[in-house]
Amino acid sequence: MKTKVFLTIDTEFSIGGAFRAPAALQPIGAQNVLCTVGQRSEGLGTLLHTFAAHGLQATFFVETMQTAYFGDAPMGDIAKQLAAAGHDVQLHLHPVWTYFDHPDWQSRLAQVQPNDDLHGRSVEQLVAWMQRGIDTFARWGLPAPVALRTGNLMVDRNVYRAMAQVGLKVASNIARAVFDPAEAALRFNAGIHHIEGVVELPVLTYADLQLGARTHRKVLTITGSSLAEARCLLDRAHAGGAPSVVLLTHCHEFVKGDMRGALAADKVNQRRLQDICRYLQDNGDRFEVTTMDRMVNSPVQGMPAADPLFSVPPPLAVMRMVQNKLNELNLV
Ligand SMILES: [Zn+2]
Repeated sequence: MKTKVFLTIDTEFSIGGAFRAPAALQPIGAQNVLCTVGQRSEGLGTLLHTFAAHGLQATFFVETMQTAYFGDAPMGDIAKQLAAAGHDVQLHLHPVWTYFDHPDWQSRLAQVQPNDDLHGRSVEQLVAWMQRGIDTFARWGLPAPVALRTGNLMVDRNVYRAMAQVGLKVASNIARAVFDPAEAALRFNAGIHHIEGVVELPVLTYADLQLGARTHRKVLTITGSSLAEARCLLDRAHAGGAPSVVLLTHCHEFVKGDMRGALAADKVNQRRLQDICRYLQDNGDRFEVTTMDRMVNSPVQGMPAADPLFSVPPPLAVMRMVQNKLNELNLV
């Protein structure tokens, strides 16, 4: 059986410190996604170019709540471009943006703190926010989303109950190393699960180092995982009978520096993406790169063992830490 691989990109604008210093800083819009350096889009442009070069389709989880500040156009243009390039465009929600619904948001900061939580909310509130996202897709002229990734991977059972009510049938809301759900039954490292009638595909959480009695966990990303780690995890997941591997990245992982000022291509991360895509392309006998929209009505495919935690050999983790540090210091 081939292991399904999902390349997922949280495609979002940034508050950019506006809540911290409203008089000085404004949210960052399209540049947070395009990451233009000179004339080149090193963020989204790199992703689209790399996927096209390897004949791969990805799922872009596009954040819609930012329309409260930016209006429909900036992200709408990006979402339409993604759909036109043949990628899967699905929903990503950061409710913190609804703070801009209040015209007096700047003075309001003294009384009420902005809140980005999606867990601990009522089903009614979640349904309203999800419907708002679905309505945004409609205004953009895109097909209704069928999949959701919650902001900050925050999740509880009410999220799935709300999803079921609005027709969001596929989720990738769980990434234990980012946000460990309070409910033990939602703590999945990998696999394909059914929760409240929704198909959940967790972002892969893996172990990299043993720190005394503690196992250090992280999620599979481009910035956080080297090519050697990604290859090792893909190989081990397939050998272990894992039905799926979900990788998470963001457009801004392919640049370094200041989004408002001096910005440069992150050549290490761009190379990692290219090399992972090539590995997946070259190993099509074991891996099927696919998209979230195709998982509607998917049967449950648990793991052969009860939710195993895949790991990388510690030397690979140490080599990645060195590589990332050298990259940070612009020495590679
Ligand atoms: Zn996000």
